[in-house]
Amino acid sequence: MTAAPASTGFGRESGQNPQAAPAPATSINVIDVANIEVIYNHVILVLKGVSLSVPEGGIVALLGGNGAGKSTTLKSISNLLRTERGEVTKGHIHCRGERVDGLTPNDLVRRGVIQVMEGRHCFGHLTVEENLLTGAFIHGSKRRQIADDLEKVYHYFPRLKERRTSQAGYTSGGEQQMTAIGRALMSRPTTILLDEPSMGLAPQLVEEIFEIVKNLNEQEKVSILLAEQNTNVALRYAHYGYILENGRVVLDGNAAALRENEDVKEFYLGIAGEGRRSFRDVKHYRRRKRWL
Ligand code: ATP
Repeated sequence: MTAAPASTGFGRESGQNPQAAPAPATSINVIDVANIEVIYNHVILVLKGVSLSVPEGGIVALLGGNGAGKSTTLKSISNLLRTERGEVTKGHIHCRGERVDGLTPNDLVRRGVIQVMEGRHCFGHLTVEENLLTGAFIHGSKRRQIADDLEKVYHYFPRLKERRTSQAGYTSGGEQQMTAIGRALMSRPTTILLDEPSMGLAPQLVEEIFEIVKNLNEQEKVSILLAEQNTNVALRYAHYGYILENGRVVLDGNAAALRENEDVKEFYLGIAGEGRRSFRDVKHYRRRKRWL
């Protein structure tokens, strides 16, 4: 896995120079998921032994199609699973070496791990700034500190500063996604679990959001676990990737190696060795995935 710089987390280090050189690599994993099985409603087996790690300061992509189990994996880590009658029935999850399955989502946020849910959940009737402020309550920070954090969010998302007084429900999809990420930043996370940030956004906006995520990772040392169907963009920004199919990890590796993998090209990037295939060719293409 790509060597990762030490993480301090958004706003957790005062007087930090955003342009500072990355700290030396460490071998600490912020997240370790070991062989978890997840069942919904006591009967629906969705994850069938998923293992993954997120190194401190890394961007790790969790890839796969619809229903592969990406969101379920993120919710297992953030402990939001229980709100959907889901349960981790086997395996365990560690955060910086501490076992965290069994804790509440609040406990996780206090430990610096927060999830940005798929579908950019914002409070539509609140302004953009009010939405951001709802992310600050967890630490009971002082006004001055909250104002500093807000300015930091606006530094990374200048668009949000322009839209700070607009009702979130009337902002664009991209601005709502930025608001959702910005609100997570207000909790001063060291690790963000980011679910499908590209969903429903125009390619240019997707790039803009991924650039900001990259900046947050490089400058604020926030570690990122990113669930994405958009394999192409995710593998350009991530250091490492896991491919999930039907609740199992079928392939993992450095992002650069995955981008060159023939199966990944064929089945996830829509490119064969000899170049891009037409849909018609793909329809009649019979080669089985090597991992099956
Ligand atoms: P998508 O990108 O479509 O969200 P995903 O890879 O994130 O896909 P999950 O949302 O984790 O996949 O869903 C994995 C499987 O679990 C799907 O078959 C889905 O129907 C099922 N599932 C998800 N949530 C629940 C739930 N609350 N109750 C029952 N089954 C669920």
